[in-house]
Amino acid sequence: MDVYGMLEKYVTIDGDIRQLDQRVVKDIRDEFERIDGIRLVNQAKVLSAMREEGLAENHFAGTTGYGYGDAGRETTDRIFARVFGSEDALVRVQLVSGTHALTTSLRAALRPGDTVLSVTGKPYDTLEEVLGIRGGAPGNLREFGVDYLQVDLKDGRVDFEGVKEKMTPAVKLIFMQRSTGYDWRPALSIADIENTISYIKKLRKGLVFMVDNCYGEFLEEREPTEVGADIAAGSLIKNPGGGLALTGGYIVGKKDLIGRAAAALTAPGLGKECGATLGITRSFLQGLFLAPHVVAEAIKGAVYASRIFQELGFEVSPEPGDGRSDIIQSIKFRSEEQLLSFCRGIQKGAPVDSFVTPYPWDMPGYGHQVIMAAGAFVQGSSIELSADAPIREPYYGYLQGGLTWDHLRLGVLITLQQMKEEGYLLLE
Ligand SMILES: *Cc1c(COP(=O)(O)O)cnc(C)c1O
Repeated sequence: MDVYGMLEKYVTIDGDIRQLDQRVVKDIRDEFERIDGIRLVNQAKVLSAMREEGLAENHFAGTTGYGYGDAGRETTDRIFARVFGSEDALVRVQLVSGTHALTTSLRAALRPGDTVLSVTGKPYDTLEEVLGIRGGAPGNLREFGVDYLQVDLKDGRVDFEGVKEKMTPAVKLIFMQRSTGYDWRPALSIADIENTISYIKKLRKGLVFMVDNCYGEFLEEREPTEVGADIAAGSLIKNPGGGLALTGGYIVGKKDLIGRAAAALTAPGLGKECGATLGITRSFLQGLFLAPHVVAEAIKGAVYASRIFQELGFEVSPEPGDGRSDIIQSIKFRSEEQLLSFCRGIQKGAPVDSFVTPYPWDMPGYGHQVIMAAGAFVQGSSIELSADAPIREPYYGYLQGGLTWDHLRLGVLITLQQMKEEGYLLLE
């Protein structure tokens, strides 16, 4: 069957782009096999957690009001704890985003006089405001007497010597960001996280190790809380929601820290006991069940995009055969115009809002203009195919998500066609 011939009925893809696609898909087969192995292990992990906790139909019935005695919520927490190999978990519709889950984790672990030491350089943009290192938003951690120090990565790795120098007596919490964020570096692998924690533990006892796990879930067979992290958090409209969770965040970690996180989210004394689920538990758990598969699809697409843009002469990070610990594919564009053309292409290939033209805007929480291309079923969901970029030099574009590998492939092909038609892609 001539697949390309049949595709012609639905999408226009020029012959030169088609040939490139055909070659690249062949070249990345081995990579796909490796990804399938990780997927299988993670699917088994999630399935086993659900079986062990005796997940049942009645857990999907939601509560209203205070949400006392919500068996579905409690079971969800226990399932997440098992999947992440942690003592406890807080999975809530009331955690409005990844930033909120991370902020709640910081509030759980820190008290006035404490210092946060980030060992992976500058944290994600929205956390700069939370920590009070940019913007001066009311309620930031500096207002509560929490200080911040950072050690930049050295050649993409944690700088152990630098960490030693910055380890002042007030340092209470070691912060690590697993994903690239708006940067050009490899994601921190689980092995990197493990080594970093065991090194720092030798320097000082009693520290809290926290990981921003956004975009990292199910990329490897283990999660940060399985290799020594005391607390980790992320968003349910990224990897662990499997594209089905409609909103929400999660925090996993040590029992006392999760208790404090619950107190920070609700109120001291209320803790984990309150929080109506309003019928959302089914989508959280069905999403978690699908997540290992969806994440694997997204990684396949990222590997494909990496290879195809590299073949077209772009710098990419990670490169096609590199290990991955987040779903982000960074591509370096030559000009702002070329980057915007790329984003227009991704938008055009979306199932929702494909007719919309994305423009850069002053997004709340970010220190510069940002362009976001996304046409998702869930607003802002970046486990669905999306691209974003800060508008500043160098012009890095970040591609992530895709609920199915086929959509990613089509999305990239539509994007290349769009860039070619707009004159931003020169094929030989
Ligand atoms: C997305 C993300 C966040 C913030 O999550 P939101 O849900 O957008 O608030 C924090 N850190 C990293 C690394 C992220 O990718």
